[in-house]
Amino acid sequence: MTAIPFDNSFARLPAQMFTSLPPTPVAQPGWIARNTDLAILLGIDPEWFESAEALDVFAGNASAAGSAPLAQLYAAHQFGQWNPQLGDGRAILLGEVIATDGIRRDIQLKGSGRTPYSRSGDGRSWLGPVLREYVVSEAMYAMGVPTTRALAAVTTGEDVYREARLPGAILTRVAQSHIRVGTFQVHASRGDLIALQALFDHTVARHDPGATSPNAFLRAVVARQADLVARWMGLGFIHGVMNTDNCSVAGETIDYGPCAFMDAYHPGKVFSSIDQMGRYAFGNQPGIAAWNCAQLATALIPLMPDRDAAIEIFTQSVNTFPDLYAATWLSVFAAKLGISDPVPDDRALIEDLLDLMAAGGSDFTNTFANLASDTAQEQFADRDRFAAWHSRWVARRAPAFAAVMAKANPQIIPRNHQIEAIIQAGIKGDFAPFHAMLAAVTSPYDTLTPDRARFAAAPTDEEVVTRTFCGT
Ligand code: AMP
Ligand code: MG
Repeated sequence: MTAIPFDNSFARLPAQMFTSLPPTPVAQPGWIARNTDLAILLGIDPEWFESAEALDVFAGNASAAGSAPLAQLYAAHQFGQWNPQLGDGRAILLGEVIATDGIRRDIQLKGSGRTPYSRSGDGRSWLGPVLREYVVSEAMYAMGVPTTRALAAVTTGEDVYREARLPGAILTRVAQSHIRVGTFQVHASRGDLIALQALFDHTVARHDPGATSPNAFLRAVVARQADLVARWMGLGFIHGVMNTDNCSVAGETIDYGPCAFMDAYHPGKVFSSIDQMGRYAFGNQPGIAAWNCAQLATALIPLMPDRDAAIEIFTQSVNTFPDLYAATWLSVFAAKLGISDPVPDDRALIEDLLDLMAAGGSDFTNTFANLASDTAQEQFADRDRFAAWHSRWVARRAPAFAAVMAKANPQIIPRNHQIEAIIQAGIKGDFAPFHAMLAAVTSPYDTLTPDRARFAAAPTDEEVVTRTFCGT
């Protein structure tokens, strides 16, 4: 059995789309975590996965047989501003595998050293963002949300310099692809039709084999983004940096930088320290996802024979976003209320609850998790209005509401104050809190045993995290 059964295709695309180079070796690799279930899905030999050679591969110190390492070129609108050239500045794609489920997936190191796209960055990552991405992406997966995943995390034995000297680490990320809206944008903006067409053909073969035109592909991306963001909204998830380079055309959540799950609910909530205008506030996420789809549409225009006709049909396709989003949003939130056959009128019931939650700063996760219990009213400041809402709900919910709700409402999400705690322990070399939290957040719907209950508690006033920082 080969260690990693690479089957690379991006590396065969036109050379201007990437730079071939290996990761930069590190001083002294050490394991933090290995995701054996995911390794088995990818067809990686589980015995090899535990070996010293595997540690070297996931640290960038050895090359795995069949790997064709490269850094991808892309561009982006960052906070709405056009940036004509970005790329993998701290990541290296080791290659692709066709997993045992038949789906092609990328295996990428993140924090693996400088590349031609690093600009002034050091190409490295410190431990904090690696632990955060591992825990949050695996929690997302456990909650059924499309996401990149974490295959491995290692320490490097080297320090990186941020606001302080911090221990370095590398995450191995797995994705259906790392093709972003910004990957299309870079070639379109350069007028590189060769690369744009090659990227389109590659992407469609990979993600939308049925799509025979740029418009069909666009529609598929719009549908995936609408579905994805509706699922984020159902979990109180704020991505934090929905730039077009962090928008995957495969529809996976990607780039867990300054992300956060809300504790106290408010639609205007922003965490990211760099999002001063609140562009990526919780309630703005659907509009931003649609805007990102419009940027993809613009980048696809050069593939069409007639510009004006392209603009017209692409506009129609982007405009399918609101209805698609609304439909998934309704079914997501209806299930959270134990309603299995949602009708348009249920929207008002859901919105009235969210208004009450926002008014009282209710904990998003615990409100839904405990809504059917006799302690439900504790989450609400105005108990009379909650009681009135509660009667409407009781009249509407399905007979089997409890079973529907149990599958729709996680008991445990990765809360920021707990992520901070596992990072602080990790800096001291103690990864036991990380592993305990990972176990808790990857079984989010299980009943709360006493050892899991601490992960369900909302932060105290002292614990609450109000700002998150980019994972650089
Ligand atoms: P992000 O906002 O995290 O999606 O990153 C935006 C861009 O900055 C991407 O092109 C990254 O590759 C690049 N970048 C972020 N951190 C670093 C770093 N430490 N070294 C080099 N490039 C980086
Ligand atoms: Mg990014």
